[in-house]
Amino acid sequence: MSFNFKITHTSGSARRGEMQTPHGSVETPAFMPVGTQGAVKAVTHRDLDALGAQIMLSNTYHLYLRPGADRIARLGGLHKFIAWNKPILTDSGGYQVFSLAARRKVHEHGVTFRSHLDGSEHLLTPEIAVDVQAQLGSDVAMVLDECVEHPASHERARDSLALTLRWARRGREHFLKRYREPFSEASGEKGSRYLFSNPGQAQFGIIQGGTFPDLRAASVEGTAAIGFEAYAIGGLSVGEPIPLMYDITEQTAALLPADRPRYLMGVGTPVDLVESAARGIDLFDCVLPTRNARNGQLFTSQGRLNIKNAEFADDDRPLDPECGCYTCGHFSRAYLRHLFNANEMTSGTLNTLHNLHFYLDTMRRIREAIVFATLEELRQSYRRIFPSQPLNNND
Ligand SMILES: [Zn+2]
Repeated sequence: MSFNFKITHTSGSARRGEMQTPHGSVETPAFMPVGTQGAVKAVTHRDLDALGAQIMLSNTYHLYLRPGADRIARLGGLHKFIAWNKPILTDSGGYQVFSLAARRKVHEHGVTFRSHLDGSEHLLTPEIAVDVQAQLGSDVAMVLDECVEHPASHERARDSLALTLRWARRGREHFLKRYREPFSEASGEKGSRYLFSNPGQAQFGIIQGGTFPDLRAASVEGTAAIGFEAYAIGGLSVGEPIPLMYDITEQTAALLPADRPRYLMGVGTPVDLVESAARGIDLFDCVLPTRNARNGQLFTSQGRLNIKNAEFADDDRPLDPECGCYTCGHFSRAYLRHLFNANEMTSGTLNTLHNLHFYLDTMRRIREAIVFATLEELRQSYRRIFPSQPLNNND
């Protein structure tokens, strides 16, 4: 089975669809829990299945450094290695290189960096990003882009965008030539260090251009001209004002090819999901539900709740009386607060189960609201529940 996308309903700019991948289909709009190291922190794949997670995101940078893409390829690819049979999207590794790695240096050919683990030196190029993700065998691979710092001047964002477009062209050409032309050519390369464990892999392009509408438009034009299975909007939720993020999302989404999925990278809060889906976004990922869960910050139908607060010490009510998750079905706020204070590992697990349930349930509500044309009511209700936007968060 290869990659395919079909829109089944629309409501305003919002789309309800189905994305086919070699490891099954994903109902969109969809949220991808982040499994940085091939695991979503604090929960098992069995939990993710039970929560209804349809697709997982994994980080190429981390897996490339440890345990190594060669090793994962030898062990049959990422799906087999981590025993997850549903779709996986891998990022290009670029984002972590720009945010985590030490002494990175960007040049035309690519980016050199030192591992945050052991200081070893590595090179990431558009071609290597393709090869490493081919070794991992994810269902969706991301093209390498330059992640520009925020705030960036128009000139800096323009130069960075030009580099990103040159890298996108190289990455796409390499992907098509090595992995899409008669497959025997790729597999026939004797002694190649690259194994390709997922012939149906798709490659997404990434739109950059900072907060400048003219650069975003130029990025869409250049990236769509290269031609990818789908398009992501990168470089948002990096500290810009939230209304501006929504504006750029709306403007960019409207320019993207209507028949391809649109993925808003690293965004966001429950309100961001609803607002961005209304602007035509189909895919999301964010560390917010999982990271916040481990810090005791929970998203509920009544707003945000910090389980550390003393007010919950004797509270025998469930976290969220309207939630159907395992945590809310069995445990009191008092117990969850106790587990957090006692540093019990179960605290992270139970909180993560709840937050992921809240996020995945939000996506189910969005999909339903698109079908029944009630997205505006859903937006209003999420705005009421979460009146003040928290700070943005990124991995
Ligand atoms: Zn719950």
